[in-house]
Amino acid sequence: MARLLIKNGRVIDPSAGFDRIADVLIEDGLVAAVESNLAAAGGEVRDASGCIVAPGFIDMHVHLRDPGMEHAETIESGARAAAAGGFTSICAMPNTQPVNDSPTVTSYIVERARRVAVTNVFPIGAITRNSAGEELAAIGSMKRAGVVAISDDGRPVMNARLLRRAMEFAKSFDLPVIEHCEDLNLSAGGDMHEGVSSTRLGLRGIPSCSEDVMVARDILLAEVTGARFHVAHISSRHSIAMVAEAARKGLPVTCEATPHHFSLSDADVPPYDSNYKMKPPLRAACDVGAVIEGIASGTVEAIATDHAPHPGSEKMQEFERCPFGVIGLETALGLALERLLYPGKISLARLVALFTVGPEKVLRLGRGTLARGAPGDVTVFDTGFEWTYDVNRSYSKSRNSPFDNRRFRGGPVMTVVAGKVVWTREDGLLAP
Ligand SMILES: [Zn+2]
Repeated sequence: MARLLIKNGRVIDPSAGFDRIADVLIEDGLVAAVESNLAAAGGEVRDASGCIVAPGFIDMHVHLRDPGMEHAETIESGARAAAAGGFTSICAMPNTQPVNDSPTVTSYIVERARRVAVTNVFPIGAITRNSAGEELAAIGSMKRAGVVAISDDGRPVMNARLLRRAMEFAKSFDLPVIEHCEDLNLSAGGDMHEGVSSTRLGLRGIPSCSEDVMVARDILLAEVTGARFHVAHISSRHSIAMVAEAARKGLPVTCEATPHHFSLSDADVPPYDSNYKMKPPLRAACDVGAVIEGIASGTVEAIATDHAPHPGSEKMQEFERCPFGVIGLETALGLALERLLYPGKISLARLVALFTVGPEKVLRLGRGTLARGAPGDVTVFDTGFEWTYDVNRSYSKSRNSPFDNRRFRGGPVMTVVAGKVVWTREDGLLAP
Protein backbone atom coordinates (compact mmCIF):
# COMPACT_ATOMS: atom_id res chain seq x y z
CA MET A 1 0.00 0.00 0.00
CA ALA A 2 1.35 3.47 -0.94
CA ARG A 3 1.43 5.75 2.06
CA LEU A 4 2.28 9.41 2.55
CA LEU A 5 2.31 11.02 5.98
CA ILE A 6 2.42 14.82 6.25
CA LYS A 7 3.40 15.52 9.83
CA ASN A 8 3.05 18.37 12.32
CA GLY A 9 1.45 21.01 10.08
CA ARG A 10 -1.38 23.34 11.01
CA VAL A 11 -4.19 21.56 9.20
CA ILE A 12 -6.93 23.90 7.99
CA ASP A 13 -9.90 22.16 6.38
CA PRO A 14 -12.80 24.61 6.04
CA SER A 15 -15.10 21.81 4.83
CA ALA A 16 -15.01 20.41 8.38
CA GLY A 17 -14.26 23.58 10.35
CA PHE A 18 -10.96 21.90 11.27
CA ASP A 19 -7.99 24.04 12.34
CA ARG A 20 -5.26 22.59 14.54
CA ILE A 21 -1.82 20.95 14.48
CA ALA A 22 -2.23 17.42 13.12
CA ASP A 23 -0.87 14.79 10.74
CA VAL A 24 -2.46 13.90 7.42
CA LEU A 25 -2.20 10.30 6.26
CA ILE A 26 -2.89 9.38 2.65
CA GLU A 27 -3.19 5.73 1.65
CA ASP A 28 -3.42 4.57 -1.95
CA GLY A 29 -4.27 8.06 -3.13
CA LEU A 30 -7.08 8.72 -0.63
CA VAL A 31 -7.18 10.59 2.67
CA ALA A 32 -7.07 7.93 5.37
CA ALA A 33 -6.84 10.02 8.54
CA VAL A 34 -6.26 13.50 9.94
CA GLU A 35 -5.18 13.14 13.56
CA SER A 36 -2.36 13.71 16.01
CA ASN A 37 0.63 11.37 16.14
CA LEU A 38 -0.15 9.14 13.19
CA ALA A 39 2.38 6.48 12.17
CA ALA A 40 3.75 6.22 8.64
CA ALA A 41 3.99 2.44 8.79
CA GLY A 42 6.89 2.39 6.37
CA GLY A 43 5.48 5.02 4.02
CA GLU A 44 6.97 8.35 2.93
CA VAL A 45 7.09 11.03 5.63
CA ARG A 46 7.10 14.80 5.02
CA ASP A 47 7.52 17.28 7.83
CA ALA A 48 5.20 20.28 7.60
CA SER A 49 6.18 21.93 10.90
CA GLY A 50 5.41 25.64 10.80
CA CYS A 51 3.38 25.27 7.60
CA ILE A 52 -0.32 25.27 6.79
CA VAL A 53 -1.67 22.00 5.41
CA ALA A 54 -4.84 22.45 3.37
CA PRO A 55 -7.02 20.45 0.99
CA GLY A 56 -5.61 20.67 -2.53
CA PHE A 57 -6.28 24.04 -4.15
CA ILE A 58 -8.68 24.18 -7.10
CA ASP A 59 -8.31 26.78 -9.85
CA MET A 60 -11.62 26.79 -11.69
CA HIS A 61 -10.51 29.10 -14.52
CA VAL A 62 -7.40 28.26 -16.56
CA HIS A 63 -6.58 28.42 -20.26
CA LEU A 64 -4.29 25.55 -21.29
CA ARG A 65 -4.19 26.33 -25.06
CA ASP A 66 -4.09 22.62 -25.84
CA PRO A 67 -5.21 21.47 -28.40
CA GLY A 68 -4.15 23.95 -31.05
CA MET A 69 -1.92 26.63 -29.51
CA GLU A 70 0.75 24.51 -27.89
CA HIS A 71 3.41 27.19 -28.46
CA ALA A 72 1.62 29.24 -25.75
CA GLU A 73 0.89 26.42 -23.27
CA THR A 74 0.17 22.71 -23.15
CA ILE A 75 -1.81 20.57 -20.76
CA GLU A 76 1.57 19.36 -19.46
CA SER A 77 3.21 22.79 -18.98
CA GLY A 78 0.04 24.40 -17.60
CA ALA A 79 -0.35 21.63 -15.03
CA ARG A 80 3.31 22.05 -14.00
CA ALA A 81 2.77 25.77 -13.44
CA ALA A 82 -0.36 24.91 -11.46
CA ALA A 83 1.54 22.49 -9.22
CA ALA A 84 4.20 25.14 -8.60
CA GLY A 85 1.40 27.52 -7.61
CA GLY A 86 0.01 25.05 -5.07
CA PHE A 87 -2.92 23.92 -7.21
CA THR A 88 -3.86 20.25 -7.38
CA SER A 89 -6.86 20.67 -9.68
CA ILE A 90 -7.39 23.04 -12.58
CA CYS A 91 -10.32 23.56 -14.92
CA ALA A 92 -9.54 24.06 -18.59
CA MET A 93 -11.60 26.65 -20.45
CA PRO A 94 -12.83 25.51 -23.86
CA ASN A 95 -11.40 28.23 -26.14
CA THR A 96 -8.80 25.95 -27.70
CA GLN A 97 -8.41 25.15 -31.42
CA PRO A 98 -10.65 23.35 -32.04
CA VAL A 99 -12.97 24.66 -29.34
CA ASN A 100 -14.00 22.07 -26.74
CA ASP A 101 -17.57 21.90 -27.97
CA SER A 102 -17.79 18.13 -28.56
CA PRO A 103 -17.06 14.89 -26.69
CA THR A 104 -14.11 14.28 -29.05
CA VAL A 105 -12.21 17.32 -27.77
CA THR A 106 -13.34 16.71 -24.19
CA SER A 107 -12.03 13.14 -24.36
CA TYR A 108 -8.74 14.33 -25.83
CA ILE A 109 -8.21 16.69 -22.87
CA VAL A 110 -9.19 14.04 -20.32
CA GLU A 111 -6.92 11.41 -21.88
CA ARG A 112 -3.99 13.76 -22.48
CA ALA A 113 -4.20 15.06 -18.91
CA ARG A 114 -4.22 11.52 -17.56
CA ARG A 115 -0.97 10.85 -19.42
CA VAL A 116 1.04 14.06 -18.96
CA ALA A 117 -0.48 16.35 -16.31
CA VAL A 118 0.92 16.37 -12.77
CA THR A 119 -2.36 17.82 -11.47
CA ASN A 120 -5.98 16.92 -12.01
CA VAL A 121 -7.43 18.63 -15.08
CA PHE A 122 -11.18 19.08 -15.48
CA PRO A 123 -12.43 20.28 -18.86
CA ILE A 124 -15.11 22.92 -19.21
CA GLY A 125 -17.22 22.57 -22.34
CA ALA A 126 -18.39 25.33 -24.64
CA ILE A 127 -21.95 26.65 -24.41
CA THR A 128 -22.26 27.15 -28.15
CA ARG A 129 -20.67 25.45 -31.15
CA ASN A 130 -17.21 26.89 -31.76
CA SER A 131 -18.21 29.39 -29.04
CA ALA A 132 -19.66 31.36 -31.94
CA GLY A 133 -22.88 32.13 -30.07
CA GLU A 134 -25.14 30.75 -32.77
CA GLU A 135 -26.21 27.23 -31.82
CA LEU A 136 -25.81 25.11 -28.72
CA ALA A 137 -22.82 22.79 -28.34
CA ALA A 138 -23.22 19.06 -27.61
CA ILE A 139 -23.78 19.68 -23.91
CA GLY A 140 -25.14 16.27 -22.92
CA SER A 141 -22.46 14.21 -24.66
CA MET A 142 -19.70 16.52 -23.37
CA LYS A 143 -21.02 15.97 -19.85
CA ARG A 144 -20.77 12.22 -20.37
CA ALA A 145 -17.20 12.71 -21.64
CA GLY A 146 -16.23 14.62 -18.51
CA VAL A 147 -16.95 18.36 -18.61
CA VAL A 148 -17.72 19.88 -15.22
CA ALA A 149 -19.32 23.13 -16.43
CA ILE A 150 -20.12 25.00 -19.63
CA SER A 151 -18.78 28.38 -20.71
CA ASP A 152 -17.92 30.31 -23.87
CA ASP A 153 -15.23 32.12 -21.84
CA GLY A 154 -13.24 34.62 -23.81
CA ARG A 155 -16.59 35.59 -25.23
CA PRO A 156 -20.07 36.12 -23.81
CA VAL A 157 -23.23 34.52 -25.19
CA MET A 158 -24.70 37.68 -26.68
CA ASN A 159 -28.00 36.09 -27.72
CA ALA A 160 -30.15 36.03 -24.58
CA ARG A 161 -32.59 33.54 -26.07
CA LEU A 162 -29.76 31.10 -26.73
CA LEU A 163 -28.33 31.52 -23.24
CA ARG A 164 -31.77 30.87 -21.78
CA ARG A 165 -31.90 27.59 -23.73
CA ALA A 166 -28.37 26.75 -22.60
CA MET A 167 -29.35 27.35 -18.99
CA GLU A 168 -32.34 25.04 -19.38
CA PHE A 169 -30.06 22.31 -20.77
CA ALA A 170 -27.43 22.96 -18.10
CA LYS A 171 -30.06 22.60 -15.42
CA SER A 172 -31.26 19.28 -16.79
CA PHE A 173 -27.65 18.03 -16.93
CA ASP A 174 -26.87 19.56 -13.52
CA LEU A 175 -23.99 21.67 -14.87
CA PRO A 176 -23.15 25.23 -13.84
CA VAL A 177 -23.12 27.90 -16.55
CA ILE A 178 -20.00 30.07 -16.32
CA GLU A 179 -20.37 33.32 -18.22
CA HIS A 180 -17.75 35.77 -19.41
CA CYS A 181 -19.97 38.80 -18.79
CA GLU A 182 -19.27 41.40 -21.44
CA ASP A 183 -21.66 43.22 -23.74
CA LEU A 184 -19.56 43.28 -26.90
CA ASN A 185 -21.34 46.34 -28.28
CA LEU A 186 -20.53 48.38 -25.18
CA SER A 187 -16.92 47.18 -24.98
CA ALA A 188 -16.19 47.28 -28.72
CA GLY A 189 -12.76 48.64 -29.58
CA GLY A 190 -11.71 49.08 -25.95
CA ASP A 191 -8.23 48.25 -24.66
CA MET A 192 -8.41 49.13 -20.96
CA HIS A 193 -10.92 50.27 -18.32
CA GLU A 194 -12.78 53.41 -19.36
CA GLY A 195 -11.75 56.10 -16.89
CA VAL A 196 -9.20 58.78 -16.08
CA SER A 197 -6.26 56.48 -16.88
CA SER A 198 -7.54 55.48 -20.33
CA THR A 199 -8.04 59.15 -21.13
CA ARG A 200 -4.55 60.00 -19.91
CA LEU A 201 -2.98 57.17 -21.92
CA GLY A 202 -5.08 57.92 -24.98
CA LEU A 203 -6.46 54.37 -25.09
CA ARG A 204 -10.02 53.41 -25.88
CA GLY A 205 -12.07 52.45 -22.84
CA ILE A 206 -14.01 49.35 -21.82
CA PRO A 207 -16.76 50.69 -19.54
CA SER A 208 -17.83 48.85 -16.38
CA CYS A 209 -21.39 48.85 -17.70
CA SER A 210 -20.33 46.41 -20.45
CA GLU A 211 -19.87 43.87 -17.63
CA ASP A 212 -22.78 45.03 -15.49
CA VAL A 213 -25.55 44.77 -18.08
CA MET A 214 -24.60 41.15 -18.81
CA VAL A 215 -24.45 40.22 -15.13
CA ALA A 216 -27.91 41.77 -14.71
CA ARG A 217 -29.31 39.98 -17.75
CA ASP A 218 -27.85 36.63 -16.77
CA ILE A 219 -29.09 36.81 -13.17
CA LEU A 220 -32.59 37.39 -14.56
CA LEU A 221 -32.19 34.38 -16.86
CA ALA A 222 -30.88 32.26 -13.99
CA GLU A 223 -34.00 33.19 -12.03
CA VAL A 224 -36.25 32.25 -14.96
CA THR A 225 -34.52 28.90 -15.63
CA GLY A 226 -33.35 27.88 -12.15
CA ALA A 227 -29.91 27.10 -13.58
CA ARG A 228 -26.72 27.45 -11.54
CA PHE A 229 -25.08 30.59 -12.87
CA HIS A 230 -21.48 31.62 -12.15
CA VAL A 231 -19.90 34.94 -13.09
CA ALA A 232 -16.29 34.49 -14.28
CA HIS A 233 -13.63 37.03 -13.25
CA ILE A 234 -15.96 39.60 -11.68
CA SER A 235 -14.39 43.04 -11.63
CA SER A 236 -16.90 45.85 -11.13
CA ARG A 237 -18.58 47.13 -7.98
CA HIS A 238 -22.05 47.11 -9.53
CA SER A 239 -21.67 43.48 -10.60
CA ILE A 240 -20.54 42.54 -7.09
CA ALA A 241 -23.62 44.28 -5.66
CA MET A 242 -25.94 42.44 -8.08
CA VAL A 243 -24.46 39.02 -7.26
CA ALA A 244 -24.76 39.79 -3.53
CA GLU A 245 -28.42 40.74 -4.02
CA ALA A 246 -29.13 37.59 -6.06
CA ALA A 247 -27.54 35.42 -3.36
CA ARG A 248 -29.65 37.22 -0.72
CA LYS A 249 -32.74 36.27 -2.70
CA GLY A 250 -31.59 32.65 -2.62
CA LEU A 251 -30.80 32.36 -6.33
CA PRO A 252 -28.08 29.85 -7.35
CA VAL A 253 -25.75 32.66 -8.43
CA THR A 254 -22.02 32.68 -7.60
CA CYS A 255 -18.90 34.48 -8.78
CA GLU A 256 -15.11 34.27 -8.77
CA ALA A 257 -12.42 36.97 -8.63
CA THR A 258 -8.90 36.89 -10.03
CA PRO A 259 -5.77 37.89 -8.11
CA HIS A 260 -5.04 40.66 -10.63
CA HIS A 261 -8.47 42.18 -10.11
CA PHE A 262 -8.01 42.38 -6.35
CA SER A 263 -4.35 43.47 -6.58
CA LEU A 264 -4.16 46.09 -9.33
CA SER A 265 -6.24 49.00 -10.60
CA ASP A 266 -6.24 50.90 -13.87
CA ALA A 267 -3.96 53.48 -12.22
CA ASP A 268 -1.25 50.78 -12.07
CA VAL A 269 -1.16 50.24 -15.84
CA PRO A 270 2.21 51.46 -17.14
CA PRO A 271 1.99 53.13 -20.53
CA TYR A 272 1.57 50.52 -23.26
CA ASP A 273 2.65 47.51 -21.18
CA SER A 274 0.62 44.64 -22.60
CA ASN A 275 1.27 42.53 -19.48
CA TYR A 276 -1.46 44.66 -17.93
CA LYS A 277 -3.95 44.07 -20.72
CA MET A 278 -6.73 41.63 -19.92
CA LYS A 279 -10.49 41.22 -19.98
CA PRO A 280 -12.20 42.38 -17.95
CA PRO A 281 -9.64 45.18 -17.66
CA LEU A 282 -8.05 46.35 -14.41
CA ARG A 283 -10.81 48.57 -13.03
CA ALA A 284 -10.90 51.71 -10.89
CA ALA A 285 -9.65 51.67 -7.30
CA CYS A 286 -13.24 51.68 -5.97
CA ASP A 287 -13.97 48.53 -7.99
CA VAL A 288 -10.87 46.83 -6.57
CA GLY A 289 -12.12 47.77 -3.10
CA ALA A 290 -15.54 46.29 -3.89
CA VAL A 291 -13.99 43.03 -5.12
CA ILE A 292 -11.97 42.74 -1.89
CA GLU A 293 -15.10 43.59 0.12
CA GLY A 294 -17.01 40.91 -1.83
CA ILE A 295 -14.30 38.38 -1.05
CA ALA A 296 -14.42 39.28 2.65
CA SER A 297 -18.22 39.19 2.85
CA GLY A 298 -18.58 35.85 1.05
CA THR A 299 -20.22 37.24 -2.11
CA VAL A 300 -17.15 36.05 -4.03
CA GLU A 301 -17.06 32.27 -3.72
CA ALA A 302 -13.68 31.48 -5.28
CA ILE A 303 -10.33 32.89 -6.30
CA ALA A 304 -9.58 31.81 -9.87
CA THR A 305 -6.55 32.89 -11.86
CA ASP A 306 -7.89 33.17 -15.43
CA HIS A 307 -4.35 32.01 -16.32
CA ALA A 308 -4.18 33.08 -19.99
CA PRO A 309 -0.82 32.34 -21.64
CA HIS A 310 0.21 34.24 -24.75
CA PRO A 311 3.66 33.84 -26.34
CA GLY A 312 5.99 36.83 -26.44
CA SER A 313 5.54 37.18 -30.18
CA GLU A 314 1.88 38.09 -29.62
CA LYS A 315 2.35 40.22 -26.52
CA MET A 316 5.23 42.24 -28.02
CA GLN A 317 3.03 44.04 -30.54
CA GLU A 318 1.57 47.52 -30.13
CA PHE A 319 -0.77 47.66 -27.14
CA GLU A 320 -3.90 47.91 -29.27
CA ARG A 321 -2.98 44.78 -31.25
CA CYS A 322 -2.01 42.59 -28.28
CA PRO A 323 -4.32 39.81 -27.17
CA PHE A 324 -6.01 40.07 -23.76
CA GLY A 325 -4.87 37.97 -20.81
CA VAL A 326 -2.12 37.31 -18.28
CA ILE A 327 -0.68 34.18 -16.67
CA GLY A 328 -1.31 33.75 -12.95
CA LEU A 329 -1.00 30.23 -11.54
CA GLU A 330 2.31 30.75 -9.72
CA THR A 331 1.49 34.14 -8.16
CA ALA A 332 -2.12 33.58 -7.02
CA LEU A 333 -1.43 32.44 -3.46
CA GLY A 334 1.28 35.05 -2.90
CA LEU A 335 -1.11 37.80 -3.99
CA ALA A 336 -3.98 36.44 -1.88
CA LEU A 337 -1.71 36.47 1.17
CA GLU A 338 -0.42 39.97 0.42
CA ARG A 339 -3.70 41.62 -0.52
CA LEU A 340 -6.23 39.73 1.61
CA LEU A 341 -4.66 37.98 4.61
CA TYR A 342 -1.90 40.31 5.78
CA PRO A 343 -4.05 43.49 5.69
CA GLY A 344 -6.61 41.58 7.81
CA LYS A 345 -9.36 41.51 5.18
CA ILE A 346 -9.91 37.76 5.63
CA SER A 347 -8.85 34.96 7.97
CA LEU A 348 -6.52 32.11 7.05
CA ALA A 349 -9.48 29.71 7.06
CA ARG A 350 -11.38 31.96 4.65
CA LEU A 351 -8.33 32.19 2.40
CA VAL A 352 -8.14 28.40 2.23
CA ALA A 353 -11.90 28.22 1.58
CA LEU A 354 -11.59 30.53 -1.44
CA PHE A 355 -9.24 27.97 -3.04
CA THR A 356 -11.07 24.82 -1.89
CA VAL A 357 -14.69 24.62 -0.70
CA GLY A 358 -15.54 27.76 -2.70
CA PRO A 359 -14.82 26.36 -6.17
CA GLU A 360 -16.02 22.95 -4.96
CA LYS A 361 -19.43 24.44 -4.15
CA VAL A 362 -19.73 25.69 -7.74
CA LEU A 363 -18.31 22.63 -9.53
CA ARG A 364 -19.05 19.64 -7.25
CA LEU A 365 -15.85 17.75 -8.07
CA GLY A 366 -15.84 15.80 -4.79
CA ARG A 367 -12.65 17.62 -3.78
CA GLY A 368 -11.59 20.58 -1.66
CA THR A 369 -11.77 18.54 1.53
CA LEU A 370 -9.58 16.33 3.73
CA ALA A 371 -12.53 14.15 4.72
CA ARG A 372 -11.68 10.47 5.09
CA GLY A 373 -11.92 8.77 1.69
CA ALA A 374 -11.56 12.02 -0.29
CA PRO A 375 -8.90 12.21 -3.04
CA GLY A 376 -5.47 12.66 -1.42
CA ASP A 377 -4.85 16.15 -2.80
CA VAL A 378 -3.02 18.47 -0.40
CA THR A 379 -1.57 21.96 -0.63
CA VAL A 380 1.10 22.90 1.92
CA PHE A 381 2.00 26.57 2.21
CA ASP A 382 3.87 28.91 4.48
CA THR A 383 3.71 32.59 5.33
CA GLY A 384 7.20 32.76 6.75
CA PHE A 385 9.54 33.11 3.76
CA GLU A 386 10.24 35.81 1.20
CA TRP A 387 10.71 35.19 -2.47
CA THR A 388 10.77 37.05 -5.75
CA TYR A 389 8.75 35.94 -8.75
CA ASP A 390 10.97 35.49 -11.79
CA VAL A 391 8.69 34.96 -14.77
CA ASN A 392 11.59 33.64 -16.84
CA ARG A 393 11.72 30.65 -14.52
CA SER A 394 8.00 29.96 -14.78
CA TYR A 395 6.85 26.47 -15.64
CA SER A 396 4.38 28.09 -18.01
CA LYS A 397 5.43 28.33 -21.65
CA SER A 398 4.41 32.00 -21.65
CA ARG A 399 5.80 35.03 -19.85
CA ASN A 400 2.93 37.53 -19.84
CA SER A 401 2.70 38.42 -16.15
CA PRO A 402 2.41 41.88 -14.60
CA PHE A 403 3.99 40.47 -11.44
CA ASP A 404 7.49 39.70 -12.72
CA ASN A 405 10.12 40.65 -10.14
CA ARG A 406 7.50 41.22 -7.45
CA ARG A 407 8.59 40.43 -3.93
CA PHE A 408 6.26 38.07 -2.03
CA ARG A 409 5.96 36.95 1.56
CA GLY A 410 4.69 33.38 1.79
CA GLY A 411 3.55 30.93 -0.84
CA PRO A 412 3.24 27.25 -1.69
CA VAL A 413 5.74 24.80 -0.19
CA MET A 414 4.50 21.39 -1.35
CA THR A 415 1.84 20.11 -3.73
CA VAL A 416 0.44 16.62 -3.34
CA VAL A 417 -1.83 15.01 -5.93
CA ALA A 418 -3.49 11.68 -5.14
CA GLY A 419 -0.98 10.99 -2.38
CA LYS A 420 2.04 11.76 -4.58
CA VAL A 421 4.35 14.71 -3.92
CA VAL A 422 4.49 16.39 -7.34
CA TRP A 423 6.24 19.67 -6.44
CA THR A 424 8.16 21.17 -3.53
CA ARG A 425 9.59 24.65 -3.10
CA GLU A 426 12.96 23.11 -2.34
CA ASP A 427 13.27 20.64 -5.20
CA GLY A 428 10.83 21.95 -7.80
CA LEU A 429 8.90 19.50 -9.92
CA LEU A 430 9.25 15.89 -8.78
CA ALA A 431 6.81 13.89 -10.83
CA PRO A 432 7.46 13.39 -14.56
ZN1 LIG B 1 -13.18 35.48 -19.62
